[in-house]
Amino acid sequence: MLWRLILQGLADLIWPPRTRCLVCEEPLAGCSEPVGLVCDACLNSMAFDPHEVRCANCTRPAYASDGLCAECAAGSPFGVVFSLGPHAGALREAVHHLKFEDRTELGAVLGRRLARRISVKFDCVVPVPLHRSRLRERGYNQAAIIGRQLADASGIPMHEDMLVRLRGTGHQAKLQRRNRLHNLQGAFGVTTATPPWAGGRVLLVDDVLTTGATAAAAATELYGSGARSVDLAVLAVSTTLVKGKLKTSP
Ligand SMILES: [Zn+2]
Ligand SMILES: [Zn+2]
Repeated sequence: MLWRLILQGLADLIWPPRTRCLVCEEPLAGCSEPVGLVCDACLNSMAFDPHEVRCANCTRPAYASDGLCAECAAGSPFGVVFSLGPHAGALREAVHHLKFEDRTELGAVLGRRLARRISVKFDCVVPVPLHRSRLRERGYNQAAIIGRQLADASGIPMHEDMLVRLRGTGHQAKLQRRNRLHNLQGAFGVTTATPPWAGGRVLLVDDVLTTGATAAAAATELYGSGARSVDLAVLAVSTTLVKGKLKTSP
């Protein structure tokens, strides 16, 4: 007991624990998550506006009259989308820290919260892979960090190395959807002749759902290699990029 306290004291001296929220800089005292990086107020703000009309399938803003967004009405290759909230405010900032500021612990905190939203039983988790050059540059795949939490929460395996990105696709965020789709043709591949997801229900995992072109390309590859169904889990759903191109409901 004593040695544990001494070790903890030493660890705190070398790596002082964060005492303020990464997002709003308010003190973290009394926060609920075991790894206190984001305060409860910020965590609780990461939710959709209950009054906003959203697609029944993917949770993106829906403007088509049948309750689906234009993407899903046109036939999205992935099924249901699970998410924490819109890619805005505290959630947007937290995702940025996770992707670009090496705050991998945030992936675990947010992944655990996302896991609580997933009520369906899956056979395995597959994170959307990064190209190896991007992985080298970043040092980690944020989708795999989130995916690990989802897999552990349901006691199912995560297959990280069998769906691969065959080539770098540049910075997707700056491309229009049409260019993205073109850019993503043949972007994914499968490294095994006997994928473990064959005949199974796959939960594909990514950090943000924007146009869905990346997730769609990955889902198509999973279906092509035998998956029975592919649903998607993301931390955040982009609302701004999609709004501009969807038709407004009457
Ligand atoms: Zn905060
Ligand atoms: Zn949709």
